[in-house]
Amino acid sequence: MSGVKLTNVKKSFGAHDVIKDVSLEVPKGEFGVFVGPSGCGKSTLLRMIAGLEESSGGTIEIGGRDVTHVEPAKRGVAMVFQSYALYPHLSVAENMGFSLRLARAPRHEREEKVREAARILQLTDHLDKKPSALSGGQRQRVAIGRAIVREPEVFLFDEPLSNLDAELRVQMRLELTRLHRQIGATMIYVTHDQVEAMTLADDIFVLKGGHVMQAGRPLHLYDDPDNRFVAGFIGSPA
Ligand code: ADP
Ligand code: MG
Repeated sequence: MSGVKLTNVKKSFGAHDVIKDVSLEVPKGEFGVFVGPSGCGKSTLLRMIAGLEESSGGTIEIGGRDVTHVEPAKRGVAMVFQSYALYPHLSVAENMGFSLRLARAPRHEREEKVREAARILQLTDHLDKKPSALSGGQRQRVAIGRAIVREPEVFLFDEPLSNLDAELRVQMRLELTRLHRQIGATMIYVTHDQVEAMTLADDIFVLKGGHVMQAGRPLHLYDDPDNRFVAGFIGSPA
């Protein structure tokens, strides 16, 4: 069963063909990672899956449903941004429940979902604090919590750890793996960091210049790269 499926997806900005012809599939419940150098189109592709960017061609399916022309809020996806996107004047609980409030969910339902997300993310003791009173790792967990409360079919992460220091990045990687096991939703994670890709992914998609250069299990790409770019990028010895 397919979690996210792209078929001949294209995106141009004016005369600039950013996504050239991408077909790929992340099976339901798997952790897929888009990895590639800066400017290769990772964020654009993720934003197209989220519906934040209209595609110039091809189809996007989520859970077997064609969502190519469906508005973002109805795609069953939630995107996790870097932690600095939190509202500084709102508490942790208010930040996490914000989208549910916009959707006019009843208060008791909002509180229940925020409590559950806080439990999963070990933020229960911090719900009344402002983001400024939290550590970088805790703030990033709040950003993830905002996605969890929406109970999406698909989580989309765009380089969420790139602002954190090296030690914290390693810790958050482990937490993301744990979160994925616990929630079991399809996740797509974008990064330019090969180590992050290798450690997080069930399936890796190596992008370059708007094309998928190779897709597969991390070990497969490492042991058997299709071309020099993948070999060099994933770091397998020649
Ligand atoms: P990545 O996330 O892999 O670094 P992006 O998807 O952000 O790459 O960008 C890919 C290319 O598309 C870049 O050349 C970028 O300048 C261009 N691009 C992205 N968004 C826009 C936009 N809204 N308008 C014009 N060009 C864009
Ligand atoms: Mg990007």
